[in-house]
Amino acid sequence: MKNNSKSMTFFAEAQQYIPGGVNSPVRAFRSVGLNPVYVKKGRGAVLVDEDGNEYIDYVGSWGPLILGHLHPEVTEAIRECLEMGTSFGAPTERETILARMIVEAMPSVEMVRLVNSGTEAAMSAARLARAYTGRNRIVKFEGCYHGHADMFLIKAGSGALTHGVPTSPGVPAETAAHTINAGFNDLEGLEGIFSAVGHDIAAVIVEPVPGNMGVVPPQPGFLRGLRNITEKYGALLIFDEVITGFRLSYGGAQELYGVMPDLTCLGKIIGGGLPVGAYGGRKEIMSMMSPSGPVYQAGTLSGNPLAVSAGIAALKVLGRPGVYEELDKKSSRLAVGLSRAAEEAGVQVRLNRAGSMLCGFFTDRGVVDFKTASTSDTKKYAVFFRSMLEQGIYLAPSQFEAAFVSLAHTDEMIDRTVEAAGKAFKAVAESRELGIGN
Ligand SMILES: *Cc1c(COP(=O)(O)O)cnc(C)c1O
Repeated sequence: MKNNSKSMTFFAEAQQYIPGGVNSPVRAFRSVGLNPVYVKKGRGAVLVDEDGNEYIDYVGSWGPLILGHLHPEVTEAIRECLEMGTSFGAPTERETILARMIVEAMPSVEMVRLVNSGTEAAMSAARLARAYTGRNRIVKFEGCYHGHADMFLIKAGSGALTHGVPTSPGVPAETAAHTINAGFNDLEGLEGIFSAVGHDIAAVIVEPVPGNMGVVPPQPGFLRGLRNITEKYGALLIFDEVITGFRLSYGGAQELYGVMPDLTCLGKIIGGGLPVGAYGGRKEIMSMMSPSGPVYQAGTLSGNPLAVSAGIAALKVLGRPGVYEELDKKSSRLAVGLSRAAEEAGVQVRLNRAGSMLCGFFTDRGVVDFKTASTSDTKKYAVFFRSMLEQGIYLAPSQFEAAFVSLAHTDEMIDRTVEAAGKAFKAVAESRELGIGN
C-alpha cells in the first residue's frame, strides 16, 4: 500500500475548518470510499502528492489542463503578467485579445463577456436568454451539469414534465417550477415539452457532449433537432461548452457537429488552469448586456490579467496545426487499450469516447442518457478506482465523470495506464466473486 499519512493528516485538519474538508464536493473521494489525495505539485501529465507518490493524471483539474500541468508557454505568460500587477478592475488590452481569439474560434460567437467560472457563465447566459425572449422557463437535460446556480439544481418531478424538483435544500420551489428536465438524446420527449409549454420557454441549455454523467455523445441528428425545435418555437439554444470548448476541436462541439447555438458558455480550458468563464453569441443578443443594454451582470475580478494571460497562451498552443489529431490519437490508443483490458478480464464495460473525453461505464447497456448511465455499477467503479490509484493512475473519484487526455500524456504513459487497468479490471472480476461488488 502507498504511504498516505500526510494526506490523511491534512484531510483530518481540513475537516475542522472547511465543510467536508473540501471546497468542491467530489474532491472528498466519498463515492470511492477513500481519503482524498493531497496534491503537492504537477508537471506535464504527472501529479505528485504530499507523501511523495506519483500519479499519471487523467483529471486535469476537471478539464482545464489540456496542455498538462505547467506548460512552459502558459507559465511564462503568467510570470510576465505577474510583474505588471495582478488585478486592476479596469480594462486591459489582453481581455480584447482573448475575446477576439474566442470569436475567431467559435462559429456562433460574435461577442463574448468574460466571467470567473462556468457557473457564472451558464447563470448569466440563462438570464440573458430570459431577457431576450421575455420568457421564464429553461429546459435542461437530465444528467447535464451547468454549474450550481439555483435554476440548474433541479431534477425532473415524478411524471409531470412541467414541474421540476430542487436537488438541493435552499433552492425555492418557485425556482424549480421554471426549470424543465428533458431526456438527453430524446427529441420526441422534447417535442412533447415544447408543444405543451413552448410559448414560455426562453432557452434550451445543453452540454453538446455531456461530460458530467460520464461521457455521453449525442446521437446523430440530436443537436440538429435541438436547433430546429428551438427555432420553431422562438427559444434560444445555449451550448454549455465549458468542457467541450477548445477540447473536442478548436471551435468546440459546435464546429465538430456543425450546429450553431445562439449562446455559448465557456470555462475551464480558456483559463489555462486559472479561474475564467465566458459566455457569448450573436451581437444582437449580447448587446443586451449592460452597459450596452439593460441586462445586468458584473464581476470585480472578471477579465483578471493573470487568468486571461494564461488563457491566451493556452489557446495559442491549441491553435497550432495537428494538435487535435494528436489528442485524438492518444485518446484512441487509451480507449482501445482499456476496452481490450476489460474484455480480457471478463468485465462488462461500455466505453464512451468523444475526442479526449472518455468514460468506461460498468454496465452491459449502451449509455445514451442519464437513465442508462445510472445502470452502472458504482461499487465496481470504486474497486477499479482504488486499484488504479494504488498503481499510480489518478482518475476522477466518481463513475459519472470524464477522464481527460492531455497533450502531455505520452504513449508510454498511456500503455502503462492500460497495463494497470488490466490488473484493476481483474480486481473488479475477483471482487464480484468475493461478493464485494454486486
Ligand atoms: C465545470 C462545468 C461548469 C461549471 O464550471 P465552474 O467553473 O466549476 O463553475 C458548467 N458547465 C459544465 C458543462 C461544466 O463541466
